[in-house]
Amino acid sequence: MIMESIQVMGVQGLPLIQEGDNIPALICEQIPVQDGDIISIASTIWSKSKGYTKALSLFTPSERALRLAKLNGEDPRFVQSVLDASSDIIMEHPFILSELSFGHIGVRAGVDQSNIDDGMVIFLPRDPMAAADECRKDIKKITGNNVGVIITDTCGRSFRRGQTGNAIGWSGFTAIRDFRGDTDLFGHVLKITEEAVVDEIAGFANFVMGESNNGVPAVVFRNCPVWAGHDNLYFTKEEDITRKLLKKTL
Ligand code: GDP
Ligand code: MN
Ligand code: MN
Repeated sequence: MIMESIQVMGVQGLPLIQEGDNIPALICEQIPVQDGDIISIASTIWSKSKGYTKALSLFTPSERALRLAKLNGEDPRFVQSVLDASSDIIMEHPFILSELSFGHIGVRAGVDQSNIDDGMVIFLPRDPMAAADECRKDIKKITGNNVGVIITDTCGRSFRRGQTGNAIGWSGFTAIRDFRGDTDLFGHVLKITEEAVVDEIAGFANFVMGESNNGVPAVVFRNCPVWAGHDNLYFTKEEDITRKLLKKTL
């Protein structure tokens, strides 16, 4: 028996996104979305559409920004933008590792200087879960179809070289597919396995988007199987061993 093929479609033809642009409407103009589709959207275009951008010249570096800029060889105004975006600093050197208020931990708070005009920075969406929810509801309004939405960002990771796409917001399904309690092919009960499905989809979406000048900031997945689980994607501070080690609180 062959499973129905999953279709993966990069959304071509989107403009350079400006503040005020309606991302769900622009995507629906380019691609006829169907019931059950999963739409991955690069955080960078969501942020641009909401005006979460700022000119570097508008940042006045604090003492800490000046110190970290010197330590890491970066522009003090950029470092200040990273500090502004962070709810906590997990590590200062050799790069700033930040926690954001919505639970994500990322290098330089996910502040980007690419795919925007010179001298500008793009912040991550302030509330990516709400962003995904807004997109899903807008697409339902425009097309009448129920879709799932994932807001992605390209992130580094521990232990391995290379960046991959991560989900920072999602709506329409759970982040995790929970296998605990299932039995494997040999009848063993699975005790640990929680599959981070939203990150797996975000990873493939990121592959289709590319990082530079593809101009493909959204990807549609069709015919994905459905799954069930929970939304506790981020470790709590208590659970997160890496965070504790880096903050030297273990
Ligand atoms: P991030 O992973 O969310 O930080 O976003 P990237 O800067 O890596 O961009 C992801 C994809 O979206 C790449 O294919 C970019 O070329 C594309 N992209 C970024 N901004 C825009 C935009 O304003 N319009 C269009 N059409 N594509 C964009
Ligand atoms: Mn990014
Ligand atoms: Mn990217």
